[in-house]
Amino acid sequence: MIETEYDVVVAGYGPVGETCANLLGYYGIKALILDKEKNAYPLPRAITWDAECQRAMSHCEFLSEVKTRKIRGVDNKDANKKSIMKITTEGFDTYNYQHRILFIHQPQFDEAHRENAEKYSTNTIKTGSELLAVDEINGVVNCTYKNIETNEQFKVTSKYLLACDGANSTVRKLNNIKLNSLDADESWMVVDGYTKSSFDCFTDIDAIQYCNPTRPTTIIQGVENCFRFEIAFMPGDTVEEIQKESVFRKYIDQWIGDNEVEFSRTAVYSFHAAAAERWSNGNIFLLGDAAHQMPPFMGQGMNSGCRDAENLLWKINGVLKGLYKPKILDTYETERKPHVARITSTAIKMGGVINAKSKFRALVRNATLRIQGYFKGKENIFPIMNGNRLGQGVHNMPKIKDVSLERYYFNEISVRLNDGRIKSTDKILEKNFGMILNDFEGNKKISDKYLEFLNKHNFKIINISNNYEQSNYDNYIACEDTHSDMQIYCDKYDCNAVILRPDKYVFDIFNFETDNLDEIVSSAIKNLQETAVFTPN
Ligand SMILES: Cc1cc2nc3c(=O)[nH]c(=O)nc-3n(C[C@H](O)[C@H](O)[C@H](O)COP(=O)(O)OP(=O)(O)OC[C@H]3O[C@@H](n4cnc5c(N)ncnc54)[C@H](O)[C@@H]3O)c2cc1C
Repeated sequence: MIETEYDVVVAGYGPVGETCANLLGYYGIKALILDKEKNAYPLPRAITWDAECQRAMSHCEFLSEVKTRKIRGVDNKDANKKSIMKITTEGFDTYNYQHRILFIHQPQFDEAHRENAEKYSTNTIKTGSELLAVDEINGVVNCTYKNIETNEQFKVTSKYLLACDGANSTVRKLNNIKLNSLDADESWMVVDGYTKSSFDCFTDIDAIQYCNPTRPTTIIQGVENCFRFEIAFMPGDTVEEIQKESVFRKYIDQWIGDNEVEFSRTAVYSFHAAAAERWSNGNIFLLGDAAHQMPPFMGQGMNSGCRDAENLLWKINGVLKGLYKPKILDTYETERKPHVARITSTAIKMGGVINAKSKFRALVRNATLRIQGYFKGKENIFPIMNGNRLGQGVHNMPKIKDVSLERYYFNEISVRLNDGRIKSTDKILEKNFGMILNDFEGNKKISDKYLEFLNKHNFKIINISNNYEQSNYDNYIACEDTHSDMQIYCDKYDCNAVILRPDKYVFDIFNFETDNLDEIVSSAIKNLQETAVFTPN
């Protein structure tokens, strides 16, 4: 590989750049992280973090915990405050697993991420440094940035550039990548604050979409009694006027009741939905808002960016370490783009639910949702709950209708090891390809010709059974399932084995029809190699 000063330059240190910085640190990849601002963005934005994204970071072992609170549910209420669609997350814990969305307080989230990213000696972090120019010549990415205080300019080379520079991405523009608007622009005012005790409206849920056509409003109870109101702009509103306490309190006092509150900040946002035509140009990749934007009605903009980072970085890590061919990087866009497109379209639809601003449209919406909820149930509204498959890429996952999330994105299972310790399958597999077998009782000897591939990929084989008999492969781990989660999964999807990718998306599920682990391994390796992204032994 060509010598460069850094393996990766990250432009932008918002939540997606922060996620990248931590993952790069975990992988031990030499990285330069730049942000034009000296400090983290101070205004209120993301308030939700999917457990999927939290799980992606679990190997980074944060120095300070990101404070979170599980969302119990959200109620969509009509103008008379009667429920039209209430979605509670209780009961989604079939797998004793993280089917959940968490509230965060973004300033604390940023702080914890930044503090942790700094602990990695392979990370060089330069805030107050604006990326000005970038080009790629023969696989070398040349970046020019300036120190915003001194105006001094610097040039660096790297193998990859990750553009996490937000909606107005400089990198996207410099690379002439078109951003297509999806025509879902909306203006909303956001007000954040703190209260000593919880508002009365939050009995068994933590968010209310008040679908009142005269003034749609979202009411949220976040971490540690932080609250947020999002108030829709109506004709005649102005940016200055609506941010006056005497004005916005008219819309929110009914929810605050007698509680003492302290407002921390207000801001007016124009929500957009947009998609970049391409997500890469050679070794330059767009992530997060630089690649896609969506209205925040599902709390998925940042989360989608975090998924981009997780998806791209295990691939870059593998290419840098000689495990995968560089063409695996093409699958970043092919896998992630359709995933994001589905979430964006759901977010636009959810925006449509609360944004019905005429009495007639509100009436139709209320009736439709009530009928739909009666016949179809409500849980499949949340993208984290249902099976949102990746697009074409490194997996063997046919599209299946009406499956839940874990069909494509596997659960973290808790297991008991031979020595009695309880461990999660994530901790055992780490960020590698691996295989989980359900109760394999046959011959566990693996022939030498496969051991090389398995060792090279640090490919663990977990056998969940009552039999702790070992194999000749050091990374074969026999253990017991503490909650029958694997059995539930296998019964549900008619399989007894699953191959997982480093990001815990399912590569394949199958039934073993042999008594020989060697044959199972042989066919798994063949299957993996058919994706043509693995370097030859
Ligand atoms: C009101 C509101 C509520 C939201 N709620 C949620 C939610 O609950 N959940 C959720 O998942 N999403 C939510 N979102 C969306 C979420 O905030 C964004 O999707 C997310 O911030 C995108 O992160 P990013 O890192 O890609 O970009 P940004 O957060 O925009 O960060 C980009 C960074 O790049 C830096 N930068 C830009 N240009 C350069 C340059 N040339 N050189 C160096 N640095 C540069 C900027 O200074 C900035 O720090 C919300 C958005 C809004 C507006």
